[in-house]
Amino acid sequence: MTIYKVGLTGGIGSGKSTAARIFAELGVPVIDTDIIARELVEPGQPALAEIIAAFGEEILNAQGMLDRARLRRLVFANEALKARLEAILHPRILQEMHHRAARLAAPYCILVIPLLVETAQEGAIDRTLVIDVPETIQRHRVKARDQLSDEEIDAILRTQCPRAVRLAAADDVIVNDTDLATLHRQIERCHQKYLSLAS
Ligand code: ADP
Repeated sequence: MTIYKVGLTGGIGSGKSTAARIFAELGVPVIDTDIIARELVEPGQPALAEIIAAFGEEILNAQGMLDRARLRRLVFANEALKARLEAILHPRILQEMHHRAARLAAPYCILVIPLLVETAQEGAIDRTLVIDVPETIQRHRVKARDQLSDEEIDAILRTQCPRAVRLAAADDVIVNDTDLATLHRQIERCHQKYLSLAS
């Protein structure tokens, strides 16, 4: 039997990682595509070889590791390079995610997929949970967490899909505009719902 898969998504700073941590505390297995993406570019991995072939050896730092900040800057400024990087990484990330999910023994799992809506893979998951916040709170939390300027936050937000589009793709929405205790309660409600949907 295949495990019931809940895709958890939301814009930057919406609270995806915080929500995923609460699900994990409730005993739910969590697979995070950002972590998979980092593992896929470790030295010796085929994806790293492809990235070097596409971007050149300059994309490595002095230790021979992928210079992620440099890569981010390169693709930020260039749509074609971004598409090239995504063509290398996205299929591998998804394959690995489903591979890991298939090995789990649990009623359901959480798949943290920041670009779930942007990369249109609703078909591969059973349910989409969107963590939503108003933009003012989002900016405030990102600023506090990452020490980014307004301009840098603007640039990131421009690469993510509009809030309304994400909400339109949601089966469930958690509005994370209050405090952690409220978020906790909302997640417990979702947890009960997913347990019954999965059974
Ligand atoms: P994401 O993973 O979506 O980028 P995070 O989970 O890292 O977002 O949350 C962004 C920031 O907001 C973090 O510093 C986190 O601690 C904080 N945060 C998230 N949810 C809440 C909440 N309900 N109340 C207060 N702070 C929160």
